[in-house]
Amino acid sequence: MVTHRPNIVIAISIVLASAILAIAVWVLAQMRDDALRRAQDSVFNVSLLVERDVSRNLEIYDLSLRAAIDGLKQPGIRDLPPTLRQMVLFDGAASAKDMGSILVLDETGTIQYDSQAYPARRLNLADREYFKVQRDSPNVGLYVSRPFIPRVSGTEISIALSRRITRADGSFGGVVVGTLRLAYFRRLFAGMNLGAGGSMALMLSDGTMLMRRPYDPQVIGRSLTGTANYSRFTQQPSGDFFGTAAIDGVERWYAFRHIDMYPLILDVALSTHDIYVEWRHRAWLIGSLIGALDVTIIALAVLFSQQLRQRRAAEEELRELARTDGLTGLNNRRTFEEHAENEWRRAQRNAWPLSMLLIDVDSFKGFNDLYGHSAGDDALIAVARCISQSVRRPGDTAARYGGEEFAVLLPDTDAAAAAVVAETIRAAIQALELRHVASSHHVLTVSIGLACTGGQVFATSRALVNAADEALYEAKDAGRNRVLCYPVAARADSNVPRVVPQH
Ligand code: GH3
Ligand code: MG
Ligand code: MG
Repeated sequence: MVTHRPNIVIAISIVLASAILAIAVWVLAQMRDDALRRAQDSVFNVSLLVERDVSRNLEIYDLSLRAAIDGLKQPGIRDLPPTLRQMVLFDGAASAKDMGSILVLDETGTIQYDSQAYPARRLNLADREYFKVQRDSPNVGLYVSRPFIPRVSGTEISIALSRRITRADGSFGGVVVGTLRLAYFRRLFAGMNLGAGGSMALMLSDGTMLMRRPYDPQVIGRSLTGTANYSRFTQQPSGDFFGTAAIDGVERWYAFRHIDMYPLILDVALSTHDIYVEWRHRAWLIGSLIGALDVTIIALAVLFSQQLRQRRAAEEELRELARTDGLTGLNNRRTFEEHAENEWRRAQRNAWPLSMLLIDVDSFKGFNDLYGHSAGDDALIAVARCISQSVRRPGDTAARYGGEEFAVLLPDTDAAAAAVVAETIRAAIQALELRHVASSHHVLTVSIGLACTGGQVFATSRALVNAADEALYEAKDAGRNRVLCYPVAARADSNVPRVVPQH
């Protein structure tokens, strides 16, 4: 039973505490995964949203450039009145917010038409990248430039989108170019909820930074080529990963995508700290509560097991007290009878002899009367010590049978061997030389009756005791201070009882 095993109580509590801990760890791990999953969803959604917005606006702007090119192909466009020509070449998109002027440059790079000014400003822009690229290669399509400050339409940093004008004969006929202020991206980025440590960046496919949140004018135009994150961006059309920004050294979860049809890469990232901040807070709370719970469970179990141990010790002590005789420390009668019963059965089963000695102090009443009850007690203690010192084999049992009577049980011992033990006891007590003037032997002596199952048939253990008692009675009768073995020859036949020889 559990209550009888204090260590099991502690073991169970440790198993329980470990199980609770394991469950808590599992739940926290799940919560951590959930936190990351939410962050993944969030950056994915934001990146999708921004990509849509950017590509739609670029598409609209590109349509305006294409419209201008188509317009230029119309016969007689040069001869149209200027206001009408402006309307044909440049649609409404050109005047949208954050869009600079759309310019038509001739093959030398000189501004021919300008969506925001008539007559066109006299400027040559042949040195610009967006012009040179289109002039030198016929198949560029839409070109998106690095950030620059436009000479024509203001002071704000912008990018240019250019398309080549190809003449009917296939030769280079100039460029249509429009500018887009980077403020557009900055505002777009600012509208997204990314937490304190979040970041977003839009870059050209060659790694040139166009806009970044958190905004820092220093990083606009900087090349990201060679950074770990940029190399990952270039490996796939879209993806996500944990990475550390080269710009600020913050670890983040990144989602990136190449913007469809444009040479642009967008990344959206949440900082690892932000992703797990709430989780960490809860983990501390749950962890401390579980820790406290576990400590309490184990402490209670230790306390409980200590009490169990104390109770067991007290019970053991009580049992011991119930088994022994208070004066001599020998087994008491009840214990002896239990032993006698068990040994009786064992002897029957194994067919080995079982011997029993009944020892009675001679003329003890007289001893008490002469020397007092207390001296009598001391004498009984001395007698008990003699008995237990003579009965040493494991399995042998000595007991105080009552008053001044003692009993000894000797399993697997025949009558002869038992007689030797009995004689040892008798002699040892006589050798104590406890003065007893009223005794014919002058010292305290005992008489011993011996009975043995070997050669005799006894129906019960009780019968064996009775036989020993009878032998004891005969020993008293024969003059005390002697050992007699059952059956004692009838005195009617012979006046000499069967006395074990004294050594
Ligand atoms: P016998 O030789 O025939 O055995 O004579 P006896 O006097 O020993 O026999 P009896 O049975 O008449 O007396 C036993 C005495 O033992 C009586 C009692 O006072 C004494 N006695 C029994 N138990 C104790 C005890 O615990 N302490 C003391 N001091 N005396 C005890
Ligand atoms: Mg007696
Ligand atoms: Mg007696």
